[in-house]
Amino acid sequence: MFDVQKIRAQFPILSQTVNGKPLVYFDNGATSQKPKVVIDAIEKYYQEINANIHRGVHTLSQLATDAYEISRAKIQDHINAEHLHEVIFTSGTTHGINLVANGFASIVTKGDEVMVSALEHHSNIVPWQMLCERTGAKLVVIPMDENGELILSEFDRLLSDKTRIVAVNHISNALGIINPIRYMIDKAHQAGAAILIDGAQATPHLKPDVQALDCDFYVFSGHKICGPTGVGILYGKEAWLNKLPPYQGGGEMIKEVTFEKTTYAELPHKFEAGTPNIAGGIVLGTAIDFLNEVGFDAIQKQEKELLQYGTAKLSEIEGLTIYGTGEKTSVISFNIEGIHPYDIGTIVDKLGVAVRTGHHCAQPIMNYFNIPGTIRASFAFYNTKEEIDIFVEAVQKAKMMLS
Ligand SMILES: *Cc1c(COP(=O)(O)O)cnc(C)c1O
Repeated sequence: MFDVQKIRAQFPILSQTVNGKPLVYFDNGATSQKPKVVIDAIEKYYQEINANIHRGVHTLSQLATDAYEISRAKIQDHINAEHLHEVIFTSGTTHGINLVANGFASIVTKGDEVMVSALEHHSNIVPWQMLCERTGAKLVVIPMDENGELILSEFDRLLSDKTRIVAVNHISNALGIINPIRYMIDKAHQAGAAILIDGAQATPHLKPDVQALDCDFYVFSGHKICGPTGVGILYGKEAWLNKLPPYQGGGEMIKEVTFEKTTYAELPHKFEAGTPNIAGGIVLGTAIDFLNEVGFDAIQKQEKELLQYGTAKLSEIEGLTIYGTGEKTSVISFNIEGIHPYDIGTIVDKLGVAVRTGHHCAQPIMNYFNIPGTIRASFAFYNTKEEIDIFVEAVQKAKMMLS
C-alpha cells in the first residue's frame, strides 16, 4: 500500500521550513529530492570503499569497481538494454546528447538534415545546432500546436532520406507533454534515420524499455530520479556505439597508446574517459532500487491524482491560463493575466513554495506562446494534495498583491 506520509518520512529535506513556512517542493522537474538511502549510500561509499575503479588490484579498488559495475547492471535491467556495454555512464543528459551529436559529425555531411522538435530543452537543441554548423547540415524543426503537442503530419512530411537523426524528448520539461515516441521511432527508422530520445523528464515517472521502444539512443540524468547530480546514462544500441568515434580522449578509454597510434578500449569504456563520478554511478543504482521499491505504478497513480487535483484547483483562479493541455505528466505550466511569472514565483517562495519560473531552458516554446515564461509546478510522488492547497492559496495571495 502506498502511504505518502511514510514515503515523505524518507526524504529529510521535506520536513524543513523555508522562510519560516513548511517547505512545499514543486520544482521536481528541475531536480528531485533525495531519499535517506541515497544520502547514506554516498556517505558509505566515501567512508568505506573510496578508491579509483578499473585500475588497482588492491582490495578497495576492486570493491569500488564491483559496486560501479553492479550499478551498471541494475541500470541495464531497469531500462531493459540487451547488453551491459550499451549502458554508458555520463555526467547527465546534457553530456549524453553532446556525446552523440559530436559523434554524428563523422556521419553527417553537407546537405543532410538533423531533426529536433519545437518542444525541446536547450540541451537537445544546441548540440545539434553545433553539429549542423560544423558539418553544413540543416536543422529541421517539428512544429507544435496550441495544445503543446507535436504535429505528427508535419513530422511525417519533414522526414526524408536526407534525415540522418531525429532527437526528441520523451516528455517535455516545460509543459509535461508526453510525446508519441513509439510512433516517431518507427517512422524515423522507416526513413532510414537514427533516433535519440531525451528521457530526462520521463525516467522520474516511468521505466523505459529501450528494446520495446527500439530507439537508437536514450539519455537521462540521475538527479531527476532521486539520485545525485553529476551522473547520468547514455544508452545506445551496440552497433551505433561501435560506429561512433570516442567523445573524449584520456585514461580508461584506451587499449594501447603510443605517439604514433592509439587504439581504443571496447564498449563501454571507449566513452568513459577519465575518472568518472564513481560515488554518483554507484548511488544511481541505489536510487533506481528505491524507485522500483516504491513502484512506478504507485508513482504514476499518485502523480496523476496530484495533476488532476492541481489542475482543477488552479483553474478556479480567474485569468489563469495553463499551457500544454495534451496528454501529460504531473506538470502544470501557467500564467496569470497581466502578471509576470517571476513576481508570482518570488511571492510564493516567501510562503514556502518552491516552483520554477522562467523559460525552463525551452525558449522556443515560450516564443511560440508569445510569453516571457511561465510558472511551472512539477509534482513528484512524495507531494500531497494538502501541499497543492497551500500552493493555490499562495498563488491567490500573490495575485491579490500584484493586481
Ligand atoms: C533537465 C533536462 C535536460 C538536461 O539535463 P541535465 O541534467 O541538466 O544535463 C535535458 N532535457 C530535458 C527534457 C530535461 O528536463
